[in-house]
Amino acid sequence: MQFFDTHAHIGLIYDDPIEQLRVIQAAKKEGVNRIISINNSLRDFSRVYQNLKTIPGIYHAVGVAPSEVVNPGNNWIDTIEESVKLSKVVAVGETGLDYYKQFGDKRSQIELFITQLDLAQKHNLPVIIHNRNAGNDVLEILSQHIPDSGAILHCYSEDAKFAERCLDMNIYFSFAGNLTYRNARNLHETVLNIPLDRILIETESPFMIPSEFREKKRTMPAYLPSTAKFLAEMLDIGLEELSAQLWTNSCKIFKLPE
Ligand SMILES: [Zn+2]
Repeated sequence: MQFFDTHAHIGLIYDDPIEQLRVIQAAKKEGVNRIISINNSLRDFSRVYQNLKTIPGIYHAVGVAPSEVVNPGNNWIDTIEESVKLSKVVAVGETGLDYYKQFGDKRSQIELFITQLDLAQKHNLPVIIHNRNAGNDVLEILSQHIPDSGAILHCYSEDAKFAERCLDMNIYFSFAGNLTYRNARNLHETVLNIPLDRILIETESPFMIPSEFREKKRTMPAYLPSTAKFLAEMLDIGLEELSAQLWTNSCKIFKLPE
């Protein structure tokens, strides 16, 4: 049985390269054989990429998150365009909209988001989307700019009705540890109402600790099977069958061989 963590900020768990390798080894012990590493800012992307580039099963997304809107870095578009040529970069992101923390202003967030959607289209890559309190705008923009390779709503936080509005587009739903919280009824209803072939799971390490590990300070990719077990019980299917389906879904959206 194996698992695919579609979203982990490996560089935020540890800055130290040796510790990063330990995190990956610990994950592999639990069957988490593939991880998409998400950069914190464009400035730390290449450092983490270089450190992890020879490790089997570790892939990368590159992008500018809404939290970086005020200072995406000089020549950030060129940096993304150079980075997507690297062999282990499989997605653009995370990008998106965050109206909760009000980074910058809405207009500049939207511009940053659309530019990256268009970059994903240009380079034939899927896009990983951060959405906080901005669902309607995210959906409206996606309806115009979603890349042909599709989009992932990472750390899904909307409800089943919202998910239904996404189904006409090539959108996947990635669930993090917060799925396992007893009061996350909107998420529980969502997983029961969307097709299994659109579901992904992630740890969003070091954030979103699954309830089984609630005494820990942060999440690790090794905790991913906990979220998978919870999901299998919710969907009333075997863990083995679920993990195989999630693996297939993840490989499909990131265009990786199974
Ligand atoms: Zn993230």
